[in-house]
Amino acid sequence: MKIAFFGAAGKTGAAVAARVLAAGHDVRLIEIDDAPDASGCDAAVDFTTPDAAPKNVRAALEQGVSCVVGTTGWDPAELGALAAEKGLRLFVAPNFSIGAVLMMRFAREAAEHFPRAEIIELHNEAKKDAPSGTAKATAELIGGGTVIHSVRLPGLVAHQEVIFGGEGQLLTLRHDTTGRESFADGVLLALTKLDSLPPGLTFGLDALL
Ligand code: NAP
Repeated sequence: MKIAFFGAAGKTGAAVAARVLAAGHDVRLIEIDDAPDASGCDAAVDFTTPDAAPKNVRAALEQGVSCVVGTTGWDPAELGALAAEKGLRLFVAPNFSIGAVLMMRFAREAAEHFPRAEIIELHNEAKKDAPSGTAKATAELIGGGTVIHSVRLPGLVAHQEVIFGGEGQLLTLRHDTTGRESFADGVLLALTKLDSLPPGLTFGLDALL
């Protein structure tokens, strides 16, 4: 596929774009000073910032290009409606790591049996939004106004614990992302399945597994 890649100079974008290239795709790398030009591409990928992502996605959709977005901290509802109007796809996932998505599934199952849970999400200090998109999505799955604690420190990549408390017992689910290349498997899966999705917004990697 021919892919426009927004945020290719970023920490995540660079790691993911390298694996997308290695998988045989033709990748147009778009950095912050480049025009948001996705024209002629089969899909656009975005790993930028909560400010930049909606602008890039809008530009790509206006150019007739469906999008796969990993950037967190923005609301894709309006652009999902634009995609639907144009018969295009907008796939957004707060976490493209398959291990993290499985952790969320297991958390939903555990929540049926434990009365209370809290989430600790730990990310590199450069991450601009807090709480993380994955923590918010997990909290929604668990329900019950689950409290989220956010930690931002150098040395961290992306980590999350979900601690369930019951009478006389604790259950801890933990997922650690140790390298940003882990997000590429989910992005490649989304690119493969993009055209088979219904027009408009599809949210979360769970929908593709
Ligand atoms: P980062 O290193 O700061 O990367 C963001 C990159 O986007 C920077 O190189 C930035 O350039 C660039 N950028 C900003 N505006 C742009 C524009 N208009 N066009 C093209 N590039 C632009 O951050 P990161 O850690 O890689 O994270 C990026 C985003 O991905 C965050 O929202 C993060 O939460 C999210 N993320 C999601 C997942 C997932 O699985 N869904 C995984 C990891 C990260 P400058 O540095 O020059 O500003």
